[in-house]
Amino acid sequence: MTVADRKLIARRLTEAKRVVVKVGSALLVDGEKGRLNRAWLESFVGDVASLRKRGQEVILVSSGAIALGRRHLGLNPGKLKLEESQAAAAVGQIRLAHAYKELLDAHEITVAQILLTLGDTEQRRRYLNARGTLNTLLSLGAVPVINENDTVATAEIRYGDNDRLAARVAQMVGADCLVLLSDIDGLYTANPALDPDAEFIARVLEITPAIEAMAGGAASDMGTGGMQTKIAAAKIAVGAGCHLCIAKGAVQHPLQRIEDGARCTWFVPTSTPMATRKQWIAGTLKPAGAIVVDDGAVRALMGGKSLLPAGVTRAIGRFERGDTVSIIGPDGSEVARGICAYSDGDAARIIGRKSADIETVLGFRGRDEIVHRDDLVLIKAHVSGTL
Ligand code: GLU
Repeated sequence: MTVADRKLIARRLTEAKRVVVKVGSALLVDGEKGRLNRAWLESFVGDVASLRKRGQEVILVSSGAIALGRRHLGLNPGKLKLEESQAAAAVGQIRLAHAYKELLDAHEITVAQILLTLGDTEQRRRYLNARGTLNTLLSLGAVPVINENDTVATAEIRYGDNDRLAARVAQMVGADCLVLLSDIDGLYTANPALDPDAEFIARVLEITPAIEAMAGGAASDMGTGGMQTKIAAAKIAVGAGCHLCIAKGAVQHPLQRIEDGARCTWFVPTSTPMATRKQWIAGTLKPAGAIVVDDGAVRALMGGKSLLPAGVTRAIGRFERGDTVSIIGPDGSEVARGICAYSDGDAARIIGRKSADIETVLGFRGRDEIVHRDDLVLIKAHVSGTL
């Protein structure tokens, strides 16, 4: 692959609307002294500011809390016990957050800290809440900096590595591009440190067993993620329609360098995040309930609009916020399927009302739409059928 080819594929980063960047511990923390690598972070934050200036939304998933905190607690080198890691994370995280704040402040970017535990991506309710918060922060122009909440995550309930955490975050927010910055510049056919014949792979179109076998166990000393967790992350990201790039982070302006055609490995999805989400909605085997709508609403949906409470006439079945429901026209045929922003009980109470009345009726300010158009797929048969 030539530099020109690499620049071309790097447009996945330049043109992405939403970008997640994972920053490994080895980049942020000087291994021997256990100090924050401030000069590096400053140059990286400069790249983040350039992305924001172009109007791109950026989420950072940053490691480094444990590596940074252990020195301050005087913990010995080598493997830490779980409770020592937890203590180190508590000390390191606050320093890490402070550094991000200070450096992003200089670019007039508001930073927001989010500490996630496994349940926040794996349990639907918590997933929806975390997603809602992230979307709100992004729409308000902030840059969320995410890490695992290591101080409370115990061995059984933790991701353990930020590669997979970053992929779950990318999936959660429908990011178009995930960059894993690490101490290696990409995927090789074998571990390049051990095998001189190891060949570099610039692009992966399908994660085959052969690709997985290449991952080996090339982990660095500080972070927990080796190539295996990166491949696991790639599977999650690509499955969600998100491009993933593994690139060398230990250079000044690492994102800029990717855009300039530096060597890195790209995992290419066959779909987009939105299409993947819509396929998933359309593929729901058993919608949890149904919402009956009037003719006006059917027309609005066909025209690509969201479903508002005003057009709903009935809610059928039991469903929770975040469940997939069928949307049924007045003639009883299914018009669309979508993720409902309200439970059946709340939906029943706001039926026929204006969105502006939702707060008065329910006592809280929920979404204006019962089903947002991004969460909705039209049933094709209906398009060519009854209307
Ligand atoms: N969450 C850990 C930390 O902040 C890092 C996990 C990883 O290395 O991927 O120290």
